[in-house]
Amino acid sequence: MESSKLKIIKKRDVLKFLDSIKKEYDIFVPMEKNSGIRFSRFNLEKDIPWNYRNAKISPKEIFFPKTETLFSFEAGTSIISDGGKTFTSVNEPKDSFPETKDYLIFGIRPCDAQAYSLLDKLFGGDDFQDPYYLEKRKKTTIISLACNKPQSTCFCTSLKGRPDNEEGADIILFDLDEDILAKPITKKGEKFIENLNSWFKEAKEADIEKKNKLMDLSLKKIRSGVDLQHIKEKLDKTFDISLWNEIHQKCLGCGICTYLCPTCYCFNITDEMDHEAGVLATSRGKRIRCWDSCMFPLFTLHASGHNPRPTYKERMRQRIMHKFNYCPENFEEIFCIGCGRCIRNCPVNIDLRETLVLLMSFQSLGKNKKN
Ligand code: SF4
Ligand code: SF4
Repeated sequence: MESSKLKIIKKRDVLKFLDSIKKEYDIFVPMEKNSGIRFSRFNLEKDIPWNYRNAKISPKEIFFPKTETLFSFEAGTSIISDGGKTFTSVNEPKDSFPETKDYLIFGIRPCDAQAYSLLDKLFGGDDFQDPYYLEKRKKTTIISLACNKPQSTCFCTSLKGRPDNEEGADIILFDLDEDILAKPITKKGEKFIENLNSWFKEAKEADIEKKNKLMDLSLKKIRSGVDLQHIKEKLDKTFDISLWNEIHQKCLGCGICTYLCPTCYCFNITDEMDHEAGVLATSRGKRIRCWDSCMFPLFTLHASGHNPRPTYKERMRQRIMHKFNYCPENFEEIFCIGCGRCIRNCPVNIDLRETLVLLMSFQSLGKNKKN
């Protein structure tokens, strides 16, 4: 990349910069909420928490909300509102996703941008195209913010990640204290900066050196890692091993690990009828999609009453196998980006890294016992 493409914007100007483009873009930024960080609509009054550790709830919810109306219907007639066009989220007012505006996601961490590129393979794959996800995704510019302070639970470097990973983002920013260095990654990112050139000046050699030093330092702070070489092939042989009897023992089945995970995508679809005062149920309703979790017993319960994953053991195995064996089989990608959310937030301290080490070493010792 030519260094002339690297730009500098003053940190103190960023809020004004975002405010100047809010007519064209629906902007999402990291925001302090309920003593944590959550991606929310830009508000000039709220500063960007530049040093934030990662958001607890991953920004996958921007494209794939936890609850989403697919369409409305009236019994005996046809669909009355095509959710594929209106994208109404039940948590947002109807006009909160105006069709005319593009989206700008500003300041997501590189691992979460990488997660989008994985979700793209699922929701925008050759076999199935999900219009609800894709319509939002294709009109979005993603500006990531490199990590200066990785957490002890981060292990992105085991999964093709780095504090300055560029995958999934159009532009990546680097926090140099008073200045922000912007590096365009895609053509879309280059065009975005070109169109708003008056806010930026060219980066100097000293800025680039500072950025490189910061990133070297940040990389060194990622101390935890797991050797995941050939994990798919190793897991191919583990479906029946007795180790699964131990791995799930502490699990409560709360589903937190899957709800917070930026690459988990399981969902349920239900029809909900509208209610009116004095009427038990009207003939109008909505088809709703909401997040689901393979850690819940009802997730695979058949109408016959049979459940192929009746205990915690099968459900824990499914979560690990799905990410590290079935997704590599179907998408040639591990569906984990090493963000550590599941580790930080599990109420009984189940550590995915430890589980993976156990599974990997179990194989290398050749203990492939049947239950
Ligand atoms: S967060 Fe922990 S306890 Fe809850 S389902 Fe996941 S592994 Fe089990
Ligand atoms: S570390 Fe946990 S939460 Fe993060 S991507 Fe991997 S499985 Fe999901």
